[in-house]
Amino acid sequence: MTKPKIWLSSPHMSGKEFEYVKEAFDTNWIAPLGPHVDGFEKDLCDFTKSTNAAALSSGTAAIHLALILLDVKAGDEVICQSFTFSASANPIVYQGATPIFVDSETDTWNMCPIHLRKAIEDRIAKGKKPKAIIPVHLYGMPAKMDEIIAIANEFDIPIIEDAAEGLGAHIDGKACGTFGKLGVLSFNGNKIITTSGGGALLSNNEDYIKKARFLATQARDAAPHYQHSHIGYNYRMSNVCAAIGRGQMTVLQDRVNQRRLNFELYSNHLANISGISFLNEPVGYYSNRWLSTILVDPSKTNGVTREDIRLALEKENIESRPLWKPMHMQPIFENYPFYGDGTAERLFEQGLCLPSGSNLDENELLEVVKIIKNLF
Ligand SMILES: *Cc1c(COP(=O)(O)O)cnc(C)c1O
Repeated sequence: MTKPKIWLSSPHMSGKEFEYVKEAFDTNWIAPLGPHVDGFEKDLCDFTKSTNAAALSSGTAAIHLALILLDVKAGDEVICQSFTFSASANPIVYQGATPIFVDSETDTWNMCPIHLRKAIEDRIAKGKKPKAIIPVHLYGMPAKMDEIIAIANEFDIPIIEDAAEGLGAHIDGKACGTFGKLGVLSFNGNKIITTSGGGALLSNNEDYIKKARFLATQARDAAPHYQHSHIGYNYRMSNVCAAIGRGQMTVLQDRVNQRRLNFELYSNHLANISGISFLNEPVGYYSNRWLSTILVDPSKTNGVTREDIRLALEKENIESRPLWKPMHMQPIFENYPFYGDGTAERLFEQGLCLPSGSNLDENELLEVVKIIKNLF
């Protein structure tokens, strides 16, 4: 008999979602608009202290609309963190623009300010000023926003903050998703909270959010007939999905707390193994610890690699996964410009995401610990 699977990060319902979904059914608001969509947007604003939010069909749609709002067009260049999920970069190509990839630094694993500056200066020297910068809060660890914003301001380039993995994280109390001109959230099934699939765009600029809602609902001009003066998209969130989101928002901080406890348990049991290391929070930084990650340095573990650990866990029906493979190493993106020094490549070589769901119990986490310890 195979053991029940331990997943990397699976949906974790609170039970309240169904009451909101039932309300959507009872009132027949089964559409990509409705009171739960408005309510979910308000919940997101209350939690993040953003002044405006648009609930959308996915985080990818939110990034795409952010690029459109910043007027990114064919032939433009957009700087993007290389160490991320492909959805950070794909919408740049949807627009016919060119992604310019930038490496990570080792304190947060996110966009390196030094390479960001080099990239901007070199692109300008080559004749094109980048139209936007996309830093990411990978695995829920905030990027070095102070330094990134200072550089963005110096060159007057807007920031689209990919906080798809960063809901609930903050720097000195300021929520991830509220640093950039536009911030992106995701509620995919594996994220810290889920709407079964969905996303949101945050901004303190109300015009951006109004325009995002307009573009996301097929860009219908005000007229009794169907009148269009813009290309539109079908990117709005459904009222049924938003109902799930409203239930999830009631437990968001609990989910963050649990994921942080997962990280603590892993690090308490594994950090003293030679060659295994954890990413600590810089002073003032608060990670949501969406995924607990380790680095495995085979030169200090007597040759044990992250792949040995992954396979040992897989044998016991436990899901773990290498860290994101950097975009500049991906077949589809490898010919685009990249500015870096090998940091993201090393993180990919040595890094592993451990089971991190907020619905895992202590015995499951200790099972993971035991299997890893047995390799040493
Ligand atoms: C999940 C994710 C996205 C995309 O969000 P979807 O809602 O799945 O479209 C974008 N960027 C990062 C870093 C993500 O992890």
